[in-house]
Amino acid sequence: MKETLKLLVVDDDEVDRMAIRRALTEGGVQMELSEVSDSNDAFSALNTTAYDCIFLDYRLPLQDGLTLIKQLRSSEIKVPLVILTDRGDEEIAVQLIKAGATDYLSKSRISPENLTQVLRSAIRIYRAEMQAALAQEELIIKIQQLEKQQQQIQMQNFKLLETSQLKSHFLATMSHELRTPMNAIIGFSQILLRPKFAQLTHQQADMVERILNNGKHLLMLLNEVLDFSKLEVGRLDLKAEKFDLSKIINLAVGEMRSLADAKNLSLLVQTNLQNPLVFNDPVRIKQILLNLLSNAIKFTESGEIWVELQELPANRLVIIVRDTGIGIASRDFKRIFEAFRQVDQTITRKYPGTGLGLAIVDSLVRMMGGKIFLESKLGIGSMFKIELPRQIALTNVATEARIALDDNGIFYSAKNPHQSFCQARQTPIGYPKFKI
Ligand code: ADP
Repeated sequence: MKETLKLLVVDDDEVDRMAIRRALTEGGVQMELSEVSDSNDAFSALNTTAYDCIFLDYRLPLQDGLTLIKQLRSSEIKVPLVILTDRGDEEIAVQLIKAGATDYLSKSRISPENLTQVLRSAIRIYRAEMQAALAQEELIIKIQQLEKQQQQIQMQNFKLLETSQLKSHFLATMSHELRTPMNAIIGFSQILLRPKFAQLTHQQADMVERILNNGKHLLMLLNEVLDFSKLEVGRLDLKAEKFDLSKIINLAVGEMRSLADAKNLSLLVQTNLQNPLVFNDPVRIKQILLNLLSNAIKFTESGEIWVELQELPANRLVIIVRDTGIGIASRDFKRIFEAFRQVDQTITRKYPGTGLGLAIVDSLVRMMGGKIFLESKLGIGSMFKIELPRQIALTNVATEARIALDDNGIFYSAKNPHQSFCQARQTPIGYPKFKI
């Protein structure tokens, strides 16, 4: 030990003190040694000076060593403490170590080697204990900080949830409130366009027609927002009944035909159903198809749009909508099913829309216990494939499902993504135009 150590010897016997001093000197310890003969003086010395180690005689005239140790611990004085015992005091020494002493040495064994060794190990043990205590304190502080952060995160989550609920409520209220005047605009425009009701000039009729068409478009957007907000809070119910699926599909295609014609796109329907009867919500099935078809028409500049209806094993059906449009990059497969997400989110984007259509389709399909598959390639086209049970179970709720992307980049949405994908693989559907 190269450093100069501040040491204190507490012993009422002058001869013993001298023996310790000599042993330490002969042991080569560099030190500033203080000596006191009773526990009161020891306590005062320890209160004013920071010692590196104390050698304490167990048997002192006023108090024994144990009382002094307890006194030191309760006054939070921390110092390595070596007890000097008489022969046969080993049991007492163990008690003292339990009370807080660092080590002990029998006076009969005092020698330069023994004393320096005990001194070194007492200081080493004490420093290690101090470091461990410091680390523990730091750990406690870190745990407290983490707990505080956790509380803050919980608070933020709570606020986020509250904000999200407010947003849903706002969307639902606003879209509901706006629908009433919008219906009035549509209704009065329709009345104005009746030949018997008003004698409009050609130009006036043209203007009213525009009001009507824009009104209908706005109403469609409002309905989308309203549906979405209802789906978000789980307030949209399916009204299931038995109906002919091919009829609904043809009805939806019929409604979209004029839009496809306006862009010179062929709109083809192919239904291969032995039994077209299903138990589902016809309004929502039509809504799903209208959403997919309007996207297919919107994002296709030339070519065709196909709608296919096929039967699958295990009483399931598949509705396929394919187009030869702009396509979707695989990195966007998952994103486009999220609410308000569009591949092009710039204000100057070419294609209009709320970005809610696919989010609504996704939620509805999941409520119906179905799955959506998407295959697409940029510049070639897209295929949305919707698998549905022939008869839906109304207990299916949207929150049970998950959205995922399989290893081949094919998007699917299902209760158990792995299982659904395996099932899908067993029933491949031909997609001749392109493959990812
Ligand atoms: P919107 O059509 O109102 O933008 P959707 O949720 O229906 O919202 O679609 C989200 C996005 O997915 C679209 O903005 C578009 O980028 C992409 N998308 C959807 N369908 C097609 C399609 N058939 N071809 C190319 N892109 C599509």
